[in-house]
Amino acid sequence: MRQTNQKSLNHKRLGIMGGTFDPIHYGHLVAAEMARYEFNLEKVIFIPTGVPPHKIERKITSSEFRYQMVSLAIEDNAFFDVSRIEIERTGLTYTVDTIRLMQQEYHEYELYFITGADAFREIFTWRKANEILELTQFIGASRPGFDARVFLNQLQQELPELYERMHFLEVPALAISSTDIRSRVKKGQSIRYLLPEPVRIFIEEKRLYR
Ligand code: ATP
Ligand code: MG
Repeated sequence: MRQTNQKSLNHKRLGIMGGTFDPIHYGHLVAAEMARYEFNLEKVIFIPTGVPPHKIERKITSSEFRYQMVSLAIEDNAFFDVSRIEIERTGLTYTVDTIRLMQQEYHEYELYFITGADAFREIFTWRKANEILELTQFIGASRPGFDARVFLNQLQQELPELYERMHFLEVPALAISSTDIRSRVKKGQSIRYLLPEPVRIFIEEKRLYR
């Protein structure tokens, strides 16, 4: 499995990390930081979703609060940024539209979309997956409980030209999820050290997930 892409070493590279971030936690931050370092990304832009197409069944925290939590979580990393591009669009937001807009805004960059192994494995279920893969490279960070090896082997055999654009990245494993954090808060359990302290305090102050 290759971890870098020799072909494009002379382009400036920009990382994009999409997510609901309800709330953002150290799993997201480690994946983004390791991808930034391993793939020489100039920076990583976190893009909190508006109304995510696959999460309409659950009542998610307001876009504004999720955006603020991402801002708090990244404020000490000069290589990280957060974008309002999805939360300001109305209606359902699709990754393909976001990537098109990012490509226009950052046309001198090569885009790298960072996901965890779970999202990585499911990429072909995304709307207009083929178009997405023409516009961006993909980085799938390891995530406990989600093995991407079978997926990658299959991809290599069946779609070798796409395999070139999909990179698997082994990161220090963190079995943290937003779902688990929300359920802990609901049950009154501790979430300390699962996410940055300013985010934990924000959740407490705004009484989220009770
Ligand atoms: P939820 O439980 O609500 O689905 P989540 O923890 O999976 O939340 P998302 O906002 O859904 O977080 O994820 C955004 C992106 O971050 C996805 O690509 C996901 O695979 C990745 N990701 C989330 N948690 C981890 C983790 N612990 N390690 C690696 N990648 C992660
Ligand atoms: Mg998720």
